[in-house]
Amino acid sequence: MIIDFHTHAFPDKVAEKAIPKLAGIGGIDAYGDGTVSSLISQMNEWSIDRAVILNIATNPKQQTNVNNFAIEVNSSSDRLYALGSLNPFSENIAEEARRLAGAGIRGIKIHPDYMGVLVDDEKFDPVYKACIENDLFLITHSGWDFISPDLIHCTPERILNVLKKFPELKFIAAHMGACKLWDEAERLLIGKDLWIETSLAPMFGLDTIQYARMLNNHDPEKILFGSDFPWYGMNLEQDYVESLGLSEGLKRKIYSENALSLLGDK
Ligand SMILES: [Zn+2]
Repeated sequence: MIIDFHTHAFPDKVAEKAIPKLAGIGGIDAYGDGTVSSLISQMNEWSIDRAVILNIATNPKQQTNVNNFAIEVNSSSDRLYALGSLNPFSENIAEEARRLAGAGIRGIKIHPDYMGVLVDDEKFDPVYKACIENDLFLITHSGWDFISPDLIHCTPERILNVLKKFPELKFIAAHMGACKLWDEAERLLIGKDLWIETSLAPMFGLDTIQYARMLNNHDPEKILFGSDFPWYGMNLEQDYVESLGLSEGLKRKIYSENALSLLGDK
């Protein structure tokens, strides 16, 4: 089984505007039109069994709508797990976290660059506390992003500050710990008590030798396969992982077993 732990999809109306806008910022083309149905048709084409959809409330006003969409998508298909989002500027973080957990949502996504807050800023503390209290895992964009090229809001060093302050938080750093900051991610995060997710490593040039070494040296139970679809192909991401010469046992964990245990599913 293959679970893509890092995908995006938008409500149909939002996708029409969001995809061209985000593609313009990143200077990259999207696969498909950014809707849930286009995600599913690509999953079928590339034999991806299930996907985790990462939603982001980039401002507090969007939080309720983003989470309503997540709840709706999450219950629409056994193959999709949609994550909620908590914005650090929201006034009802604790209440919204309870609502998400009560509706069967398993985790939340944050994007410190889009939210404009450093990952270890105390502004995020209520978000982390709410995740711990409601047994929600947290996945964050980590490392470089198009939206804030000169100020990286989530670096390996700052992640360590969060882990130290909130040791019970189930913390996932996307993009192999920190996009483009590969050496720092390897030195500071590999072997530490957090999950890492693989997406964007091939797109941003993590070479296969370092990539394989990072995966082999991290806790095998805490690595997740992700593609960042629609910004990259799930098939290309899988080809890259396949090229690393990893053991079959480790690949099974990365492709599905670790995701299932984090999602509390079978
Ligand atoms: Zn993403």
